[in-house]
This record gives sequence, C-alpha cells and structure tokens, in this order.
Amino acid sequence: MEDTIAAIATAYGEGGIGVIRMSGSQARNIMDSIFVSKYTKDIKPIANKRLYYGHIIDPANNQVIDEVLAVFMKAPATYTKEDVVEIYCHGSIVALRKTLALTLRNGARLAEKGEFTKRAFLNGRLDLSQAEAVIDIVRAKTDKSFDVALTQMEGALSERVKEIRQVMMDLLVDITVNLDYPDEDIEFLTYNKLKNSLSQIGDMIERLMSTANTGRIIREGLNAAIIGKPNVGKSSLMNAMLKETRAIVTEIPGTTRDTIEEVISIRDIPVRLTDTAGIRETENTIEKIGIEKSKEAFNRADLIIFILDGSAELTDEDISIMMTIGTRRSIALINKIDLGQQVGEEKLREYLPKAKILKTAIKQDIGIDDLEHEIAGMVYGGEVKQEESLLVTNVRHMELLKKAGEAVADAYKMAENTEALDFIEVDVRRAWALLGEIVGEAVTEDIIDQVFARFCLGK
Ligand code: GDP
Repeated sequence: MEDTIAAIATAYGEGGIGVIRMSGSQARNIMDSIFVSKYTKDIKPIANKRLYYGHIIDPANNQVIDEVLAVFMKAPATYTKEDVVEIYCHGSIVALRKTLALTLRNGARLAEKGEFTKRAFLNGRLDLSQAEAVIDIVRAKTDKSFDVALTQMEGALSERVKEIRQVMMDLLVDITVNLDYPDEDIEFLTYNKLKNSLSQIGDMIERLMSTANTGRIIREGLNAAIIGKPNVGKSSLMNAMLKETRAIVTEIPGTTRDTIEEVISIRDIPVRLTDTAGIRETENTIEKIGIEKSKEAFNRADLIIFILDGSAELTDEDISIMMTIGTRRSIALINKIDLGQQVGEEKLREYLPKAKILKTAIKQDIGIDDLEHEIAGMVYGGEVKQEESLLVTNVRHMELLKKAGEAVADAYKMAENTEALDFIEVDVRRAWALLGEIVGEAVTEDIIDQVFARFCLGK
C-alpha cells in the first residue's frame, strides 16, 4: 500500500484561501482525526465529495488551528486516482503550516515535488507527456503558452504519437508475417511498399518535429539581446517595447524588476529582452560585453537586435559590433531616421549578411510595430501557424522524436539497399519504442524521477 502524502498546494504568501492536499489510503482517517465538522459532528465517516464546514483541531490538546472547509474525494475519481482530501484554510502561512504539521503528525508524509502528479501518472490517469504538461500549465506566462500546455495536458500530443506508433505497428506486423510465415498465402511485402510506409512514418515524425522550435520559444520564451554603441537608442527601445507590450515580470508578485532585463509579451510570445549596455556605460562597447551578465545575454540570445544611429556615419565601433554578431540571427535597426539617413542598407549587408534590416525612429514610435511583426514572424515562421496549439515544447520529447526519426531513416536506407527484413525490423521496433517513451511507456524509474523533480511542491 502506498503511503499517504500531504503538502501545501497553493502558493506561499498571503491569499484569500490556502489549500492543504492529502492523497493516499489514510487521507480520510487523518481528516477524521484533525477535522471537526461544525454541524454534523456525529456524521462519520465523512461522505464522498461533500464540502464540510468546521475546524481543524489538534487532537493532542484540542486547540483550534483554523476555521476551514474540507472535502474528502474517494478513489479512483480523483486527481491521483487515490483517496484525496483537500482542506481550505485561510490563506495564512501560519494556518497552512500548522495544519500541514498536524497531517504529518497523524500519519501523512510530506509529499515530494510533483508527487501528486507522479501518482496520477503511475496510477494511469495521465500519461507522461500529459503529466509534463501540468507543470507547463502552472508556469505559463502568456495566453499562448497556457493554450499549448493545456492542449498537451488534454492529450493532443499523446494522440498524435499514438497515431504514428499505430502506423509503425501495422508495418511491424507486416514485416513479422513476411518473416515468419513466408509460405502462407499473404500479401507479399515488397521493398517498394516498405519504403512507402517508412517514408510516410518519417514524414509524420518530421512534421511533429517541425513545431519544436516554435514550441520551445512559446514555452521558455525568446531570448533577445539589444546591442549597440552608446546613445543609439537602446534604452529608448527597451522603454518603447515595455510601453506597447505587457511587461510580464511586473505582474508576477515577488519578482523584482531588473532594469536591464524585462520579460514582455510580444503578440503572445514571451520575450526576455536584455539591454546589454544597461549595466554601466564604458568607452568601448565590445569591452562592455565583457561584463558578465551582458556577455551571457549576448551569447545565449536567440535573437540579437542591433541598433545604430542612422543619422550619422558608421563608426569603427558599429563595425566591430557587427563583426561580433556576424551571421547570428539578428535584426538591425537603422535608428533616428527622423534626423536624416546617412547609413545605407547595402553597407550593413556587407557585415550582417543574414540580418533583417529595418528603419526606425524609436523616439517617434516609428518602426516598433514592424520590429514586433518581424519577431513574431521569426517565431511562427515556416510551417507553424499562430493558431496551432499542438506544438512540441519539451526537450525530452524533441530528442526522442529526433532519435526515432534517425532510426526510421536508417531503416529506409536499408530498404533501398534491399537488405534483410529482420535488420530493418530492428530499427522500426527501436523507433516505435522511442516514441513510446514520450508517453511514458517503458521509461525507466530515473527518467520518471527526473521529470517530476522539476515540479513544485504540492503539485
Ligand atoms: P542608449 O545609450 O543606446 O541606451 O540610447 P538612449 O535610448 O538613451 O538614447 C540616446 C538619445 O537618443 C536620447 O536622447 C534619445 O531620446 C535619443 N533617441 C533615441 N531614439 C531616437 C530617434 O529615433 N530619434 C531621435 N531624434 N532621437 C532618438
């Protein structure tokens, strides 16, 4: 029998209510020993899924801990598929800690991170990819990232993976029949048919993988670094974007605003915007990048926004910054065009062959919209539509898809060379197993532990 776990399920801090959650076979007994219903004192056992009003009382000394609402939910129709108790205390950390301590003293054990969701997975209520989506839901910062996580939690990714695996299974059956019963009156699996099936499977995997880049950014945010020599308009850009879009960090209680880094929402994409010069101005901008935080932001940036003063001639400093950027993904802003344009696009092209070049007058609010449009276009580029919610967001899934795709490609190559069927079968079976790991089939315990270690307490 599994032990009974307990945790504070709501965020730390002040709130209207705070919730203690328990899961396990002893949950109801523990509730019985610490909860006293106000009007139905003698009704025991407590009925399933009814909300009771009463008090948490320490059975050791009869001291009242808090006035609460409490509910008992009988297995298996619960979050964990075990017996669950939820106690709605006042949103005070004191009441919550004391109530939690009482549950522990009366037979519960403190839950590990993600243990409620882990039990939901182990008891078969959610598959692994759905369980992983739970944490993404909790952490989502924009409507879009929330939608994508919810879609995954509801099983859209699992369904797609199952579809692909079904096609693989059909092929494996064909192969096995041809290997084991070659003399029976069965449809002969030609190498052409085999190649068709494999390329169909390869395409299905490929299509899912093509959403991964966008998916990662929707989930984790786009890292954008603003760079340019002093006085070109970097902090003006930062301010303009903060004004037009929503600063996400300032809306989350407990997060402090960092003047050089802001997390904003551009067309529903979380963007971590860093002004690489924001720490301190020095003579030489490249030297400035040497400041650790700036350097780190520059190095990890998915996108570099380079600003120059377009109303003046290019300087050596501009050129050396551009050479540092090179062919990385970048947008170059020829700024201050309200003062006339001295720098031509062709000139910039020489140094930044891959950059998207825009003309702006940040102070006049000209070009900011184009910049945002460009950023959104980069994230939703190619095949991924903005309204698409089935996106691969998780690195673990991405790697499994990649390996499965490689195994299928290997199988295809062997089919081209008309190699023996049983060799080909090995690769297809491997790809099938790899995709199974996405939904949690045949995963090892340490993978499961790693997945749930990323959760917060009480989830
Ligand atoms: P930073 O040192 O790169 O952060 O540059 P700032 O954003 O502090 O801007 C330097 C100066 O240029 C400020 O006085 C801004 O008001 C001005 N500035 C920024 N953008 C423009 C623009 O598009 N046109 C004009 N005329 N001035 C601008």
